[in-house]
Amino acid sequence: MSPNNANLAARLAKQIEASGSISVADFMQAANQAYYAKGDPLGVNGDFITAPEISQMFGELIGLWLTDIWMRAGCPEDCKYVELGPGRGTLAADAMRSMQQFNFAPEVLFVETSEALREMQAQAVANATFLDTVDDIPYDAPLLIVANEFFDALPVRQLVSTHSGWRERVVVRDRGTKFMATPGMTAMDEIVPSEFRNAPSPSIYETCPAASSIMYELAGRIAANGGAMLIADYGYTLPGIGSTLQAVRAHEYADPFENPGMHDLTAHVNFVELANLARMRDLRVSGPVEQGSWLKALGIDARTQALSASRPEQADELAAGRDRLVEATGMGSLFKILAISHAEWPDPEGFAVNQSLG
Ligand code: SAH
Repeated sequence: MSPNNANLAARLAKQIEASGSISVADFMQAANQAYYAKGDPLGVNGDFITAPEISQMFGELIGLWLTDIWMRAGCPEDCKYVELGPGRGTLAADAMRSMQQFNFAPEVLFVETSEALREMQAQAVANATFLDTVDDIPYDAPLLIVANEFFDALPVRQLVSTHSGWRERVVVRDRGTKFMATPGMTAMDEIVPSEFRNAPSPSIYETCPAASSIMYELAGRIAANGGAMLIADYGYTLPGIGSTLQAVRAHEYADPFENPGMHDLTAHVNFVELANLARMRDLRVSGPVEQGSWLKALGIDARTQALSASRPEQADELAAGRDRLVEATGMGSLFKILAISHAEWPDPEGFAVNQSLG
């Protein structure tokens, strides 16, 4: 255990000792902050791998999607590229390359909390401006916003049904040695939507207040000044019951409550909630569709062939990357793409109505 993680475990243990428990949301928030502060978790030798790290085609096609909607919107000059949680900066670098072919070189804003990852992102994309939170994004220009595997890292709140009603799910110390989740003391029935209130004990109802408030902020900016947002993540397209909290370390699942800060904690994204928040601001909602069908609609097969023709020695690698992004055996079905755009902006590409889920 690194000194930082030992400190975090001790700090959380002390907090629990003082107040009896902390919520799952507070635990997840503290654990992920420490985890991302440590540095680069991505890649084959890291804890997990993401679409832009699998193939350059992912970021390139997103760059083309952004260029296309920007051009059809009349090429607004002050449009900014915003990325939430850019990881190594790979997606942005690949997207910029394809955008620059069309002389589209917007100002780049990165919303990133980890200093260590900011350093990598600055290497990948020169001249990026770093922001601590979405609240710092200016309110005076159209925005093209990208979020790949960002929302899943935000802390979820969990409510659990017990024989005496719904309770906050909290983290305690099991016999003083081990972190463990358990129902808290305060009644929480009011917060659970009526359709789930009679779910049998123990059921878990999850919400992500952090995701909702970020979406609300961004939707407000797009409604005011135009623009579009693309969200790629794993998540659900119908509201449901059950814990989706998971921990991944070195590509293996782990106990989310053990060793806080040592592994990536994620939860499934509630696409229904994100879409509803955008609708409240009269924005257009496209999707969610499966990542595989979206990438195919954007021409990933033609791109694979073109790249393979110019670099035959990489043809196998390119085909394997394409398959992993597109096929159901890889990320193709599990990952979804949701787009949000200003109602007066053109219809975004890749979202044929009959493919929409949920
Ligand atoms: N988008 C990248 C990385 C995904 S990992 C990729 O696809 O490869 C999640 C990213 O979100 C990391 O860069 C992490 O530091 C960042 N992050 C997590 N919580 C955040 C928060 N609350 N605010 C800003 N960035 C956050």
